[in-house]
Amino acid sequence: MNTGLSSLDELYREVILDHYQSPRNRGRLADPDVANAGSNPLCGDEIELSLRIRDGQVADVAFDGRGCSISQASASMMTEAIKGKPLEAVRAVLGEFKTLMTDKNAEAVDAAALGDLEALQGVRRYPVRVKCALLPWNVLQESLELYRAGQARGGQHE
Ligand code: ZN
Repeated sequence: MNTGLSSLDELYREVILDHYQSPRNRGRLADPDVANAGSNPLCGDEIELSLRIRDGQVADVAFDGRGCSISQASASMMTEAIKGKPLEAVRAVLGEFKTLMTDKNAEAVDAAALGDLEALQGVRRYPVRVKCALLPWNVLQESLELYRAGQARGGQHE
């Protein structure tokens, strides 16, 4: 018999469902500076991410995808967390969120600073679902690396 969820768990579940049912920044950018996709075969989750980067900031971001509520809600929250942010702030959020989801010392993370993403911390108790929550972030990390590699090759003009 399940003893039921705490009120905090209920709140978190509502936040996750809200992002799943009304995803933010869903779609594809027409002329992205970098676009990338990834999947989590264990669960059947797929995430496609496109980013427009201007003056070292995420000028626009969109995601498309399918899969479970955790993966899609995580992607929706992620786009909200990084839109309009400088790339170094984006990398900082990426690091904080990964710590929140995977580190035993996650209490050290200021979860409140992550906004709605805080709602995903309960997922940490379910290792299989952690992969779902991290999928969009892994795609983001790869996208930033692809973007940086493109810049290093001189693919972007000043
Ligand atoms: Zn999933």
